[in-house]
Amino acid sequence: MSVRQVGGLTAEPGSVVKGYLGGVSLGSGMQVRIPAVVVNGRRDGPVLVVVTGVHGPEVAPMAATVAAVRSAASEDLAGCFIAVTVANPLAVQLGEYTTPLDDKNLSGPLYYPGNPAGSPTERMAAAISQALERASVVLDMHSNGVPSIPFAILNRSLARDQKTLDDADRYAGAFGVTPIDWERDQPTNIAGSSMVRGIPAMTVELTANVHIIPEVVEMGKRGILNVMKEMGVLAGRPEPQALPRLKGDFVFYGMLRASGAGFLFIKKTAGEKIRKGEVVAEIIDHFGDVREEIAMPITGYLWAYRVTSSRSHIINEGDEIAFIFRDRRDPL
Ligand SMILES: [Zn+2]
Repeated sequence: MSVRQVGGLTAEPGSVVKGYLGGVSLGSGMQVRIPAVVVNGRRDGPVLVVVTGVHGPEVAPMAATVAAVRSAASEDLAGCFIAVTVANPLAVQLGEYTTPLDDKNLSGPLYYPGNPAGSPTERMAAAISQALERASVVLDMHSNGVPSIPFAILNRSLARDQKTLDDADRYAGAFGVTPIDWERDQPTNIAGSSMVRGIPAMTVELTANVHIIPEVVEMGKRGILNVMKEMGVLAGRPEPQALPRLKGDFVFYGMLRASGAGFLFIKKTAGEKIRKGEVVAEIIDHFGDVREEIAMPITGYLWAYRVTSSRSHIINEGDEIAFIFRDRRDPL
């Protein structure tokens, strides 16, 4: 039976400890504190660390994680579940992707151990690293607006060794959403930073951002509990998700960019197979004229349409409007 020490939090065997991992003091006297829950089992076993709230508008995974905490807290765990539920409280409070104090993205190569003497965002990353350093498996959970599909980004090329790679694939399978590889030379986020250290990790993307939709919360919660089952922390076998996974060997391809400006009229939805040259979306301007028909550059899929710099589906010239991925078995 192990006592778990996570930053300043101490969790005895069979206890649930709620507290803060540290944070940033503001000049007004406000304290920005990063909440965490440690659900420590009575029996020894591996440690799952789930981080949510790295990006402010992505509320659905935060809700899914607190739902998973509530469920796990009533179970007899063999191991430990550490949830960092609101990783960037300032960004979450204001619905921003970056930290308003230094305009930095907490989704960066800022971890293990990070820089506790750095900028506000770097200090928050260092505080979160106290949890990550305890992890056997890491889930960094994010979300997209609608329409989008649920999926898990894997940075397979960053895996320290074959076991890390195989385990990451296995846990993505257990979570139960479509795995999509994103080839990287170096880590750009929490999951990649974990993979290079030999900790199986993925970036999960759910299908709602600012709204808390019951089916999306259930999917995220089930995925977290499924990973805990696959790890042996929870008893039982992973349960299938309500939405089946896409079949294929998927890899991120690139962004779809608009040249016209106006309103986004979607012709093809997320997860639908789209042939090269097919019209994905029309941009129609404020007079009702079609400014652009945006064609698919390859045969592939979109995982989500983006919320643009206007924070909506109003499209500005040059905006990236969607994420493209492809099946490696299809010709480019
Ligand atoms: Zn995100």
